[in-house]
Amino acid sequence: MDTLSMPLVDGRFTTPDQALAALRRSGQGALVVKVSDQYSLAWASEIDEARRQGLPNLTTIPNREPAYLARMEDALTRGVDLIQPRRTWMAYESLLDTVGAQYVLIAVADNAAMVVTRHEGLRAMVDSVVLECDGPPHHVFPKPDKRVGDDCPRCPADSTGRRPKIRLSV
Ligand SMILES: [Zn+2]
Repeated sequence: MDTLSMPLVDGRFTTPDQALAALRRSGQGALVVKVSDQYSLAWASEIDEARRQGLPNLTTIPNREPAYLARMEDALTRGVDLIQPRRTWMAYESLLDTVGAQYVLIAVADNAAMVVTRHEGLRAMVDSVVLECDGPPHHVFPKPDKRVGDDCPRCPADSTGRRPKIRLSV
């Protein structure tokens, strides 16, 4: 089980560029997308693909991983501790099984969400810094596909023969 804070954006009113900027600010590789009352996770690679397709917002990114918004009823009937989730990790695993999700949100503010997941290692994945190609054009890469200093496999060499490189995005 892992708990971590992630950026939260409204998918209807957030462009892919704005979402990528939010990831760079937080230094994370995924964020929580809210569309109406539905929450899901979107990874940097998916957001970058939306940017390359010219999508106007985040509502049509396919296959986003759903996140379940926990409620007071879940605390009362399932015994999940919404304040100190690690104290009741077994109740969280049961809740995740019941609702068919990999992520539970236990708190949502305007720009951030607190996420509980059964995955050990999600924090490391999400907290990994975003990598990008120095282009042109600039675009992001998910870890661990590429490492800093690698040649970008998507971009051709420029007129001097230099291949764009993968670098940290800050
Ligand atoms: Zn590139």
